[in-house]
This record gives sequence, C-alpha cells and structure tokens, in this order.
Amino acid sequence: MTRPAVIEVSDLRKTYQQGDSEVHAVDGVSFRVELGDYVAIMGASGSGKSTMMNILGCLDEPTSGTYLLDGVDVRELDDRALARIRNRKVGFIFQHFNLIARTSALENVELPLAYAGVPPAERHRRAVSALTQVGLANRLGHTSAQLSGGQQQRVSIARAIVGEPVLLLADEPTGALDSHSTAEVLELFDGLSVEGRTLVVITHEDEVAAHAKRVLRMRDGRIESDRRQAAVADPPPCWNRLEAAG
Ligand code: ADP
Ligand code: MG
Repeated sequence: MTRPAVIEVSDLRKTYQQGDSEVHAVDGVSFRVELGDYVAIMGASGSGKSTMMNILGCLDEPTSGTYLLDGVDVRELDDRALARIRNRKVGFIFQHFNLIARTSALENVELPLAYAGVPPAERHRRAVSALTQVGLANRLGHTSAQLSGGQQQRVSIARAIVGEPVLLLADEPTGALDSHSTAEVLELFDGLSVEGRTLVVITHEDEVAAHAKRVLRMRDGRIESDRRQAAVADPPPCWNRLEAAG
C-alpha cells in the first residue's frame, strides 16, 4: 500500500547564472516523501541541500521540473498563494532558531497562528499545548535571551508544530547545539515521527541522520543514494524488569 505523498518532485532543476557560466545547484532530482516518513537529506557543502530545502519550503522556485506539496502544484501559485501554502503546510526549524528577539516563547509560538487568523483564545491554548509538548510549560514568558540554545530550538519546534503542518522541514537543526541539547532535539523528532508527522531534516551530522527512517544523499545537485534504514527496535516494555530480575 502506498501512502499519500507529502512531497513529490520530478526532474527538479535549479540553475544559477554565475557570470558567463551556469551553476546547476539542483540538477534533475526526482523523489517522493510519503506521509509519516522521516527523511534526512545529507551531502557535502555545495551539494545543493540548501537550494533543495528552499524549494521544498516554497521559499524559492525551481528553474524547471515539478513540485507537488501535499498534492498542490506549487509552480502554478503566485507569491501570495505561495506564502499562504507555506504558512499552512510547512513548519520550519532553522539552525539559528530564528525566534523574534525580546518576545516571549508563548508569543513566538502564537505568531504563525495569528497569521493564519486563529482567534486569540485558541491561539493561546494551542501555543501552551505545543510548548508543553516540547517540555517548556514553565518557560512561557521567557524571551530568547533568557533561554539556552537548546531551549530556543525547542521553542522553534513548538512554533513549527503548532499549526499542524503536513511537513516539518529542518535545516541543520542541531548545528548550533551542544551534545546534550542535540540529544533532546533528536528525541523530540523521534516522538513527532512516532506521532505520524512527516519530517525532512537537512543535516551533515551522521548522528542526526541515524534517527531518520530514510537517508537521501546529494552530490553535485543530484541524488547519489536513497537508503531506508532499519528501524532500531524498541526493547519490549518488560525489558527493564526482566533485567532487574536477572
Ligand atoms: P549546500 O547547502 O549543500 O552547501 P547550496 O544549495 O547552498 O549547497 O549550493 C549548491 C551550489 O549552488 C553551490 O555550488 C553554490 O555555490 C551554488 N549556489 C547556491 N546559491 C547560489 C546563488 N544564489 N547564486 C549562485 N550560485 C549559487
Ligand atoms: Mg547549505
């Protein structure tokens, strides 16, 4: 049984004019990402990851090829429609969090709902719920300056999930974090994946990619390999007790 595709790209290309020469940043890429999948996109610097991420997030348009986001052909949309679909369908998580300074965690998480026209009371309720889910129920009024890097990234994860987008798109989400905060973020991603969310994570870290169900590797604007990873089986629930009993 095939699940519905959240992402479906065919022969996608992005070409930059660089003086007299052309740079093929994305050079004929086709793949689909099914609902509920957890995909890491890896590749060396310059391989086309950011260009790919910008296209998948409707922040940039391809030169040619097609991109269906949740069944919608984004090439047919004008700028306003593109901004709307981006706000509704994609939750972004960036390396440097991109939170609004001097603004509380709660207000940061409410903001995408405000853009979407959600009434204030519901906005508040949903933002509190999202911040609770990332373990920050006791930090609602804190601003970025009052939060650690790991906590700021958790606020940004809450902001990404609060609108129930069909796609979570993360660009080097642990690139600015220490190992402890990295582990926390990866644990949250695992939980979101178990909930059935669809995640695409751009990363150059093996540790991050190891959590994904599937790894796409890019090289010179193309997909060099596409591998599904064996799931790490959870120990049975009685495992701890068995071990304790010897
Ligand atoms: P990555 O994120 O994997 O490091 P990028 O998508 O940023 O790769 O870049 C892919 C290629 O496209 C590189 O050769 C880069 O120099 C080129 N490139 C990216 N953005 C532009 C741009 N705005 N103008 C010209 N060339 C660009
Ligand atoms: Mg990049």
